Amino acid sequence: MTGKTHSAAGLLIGAVVARHFELDLIEAVTCIVISGVASIFPDICHTQSKIGKHFRILSLFIKHMFGHRTLTHSLIFMGLIFFLLHMLQIPIYYMIGVICGMLSHVILDMLTPRGVKLFFPLPIRVRFPIQFKTGGILDLSLASTFSIMTMFVLFESTMKQLIRYFL
Ligand SMILES: [Zn+2]
Repeated sequence: MTGKTHSAAGLLIGAVVARHFELDLIEAVTCIVISGVASIFPDICHTQSKIGKHFRILSLFIKHMFGHRTLTHSLIFMGLIFFLLHMLQIPIYYMIGVICGMLSHVILDMLTPRGVKLFFPLPIRVRFPIQFKTGGILDLSLASTFSIMTMFVLFESTMKQLIRYFL
């Protein structure tokens, strides 16, 4: 999946979490931003990805040490991040945003032919029975769907009023 699809999923998760916990504006924006970043973070193992370009040295290091879609796309890595955030006593809503953001990335990558090494260091490639090409029609449709859903979650009451007005 493209970075756009991953970040669109992350923003949607952030918006849902913010709404569920009824966060104030500052917290809601923070939650949406960190979920968005978390949703592209696993691709730090890929030097040409959005996040990889920003942290080139770290990206090169991870790529050479572990390879692409291995450690950073695994359950062990998500567990490690969860443990770290727990130690830092990050509020639960930010923690949910980060973990679900990363999880959405891994799930979306499991929809591609390459799959992910979910149980790294075990060399098992995990992917769904149905796969789609990165940058293909499903990729683009997912990005648009997630974006529309985010708008709906954020502005539901305004949208409902608009729909009622026009129907
Ligand atoms: Zn990935």
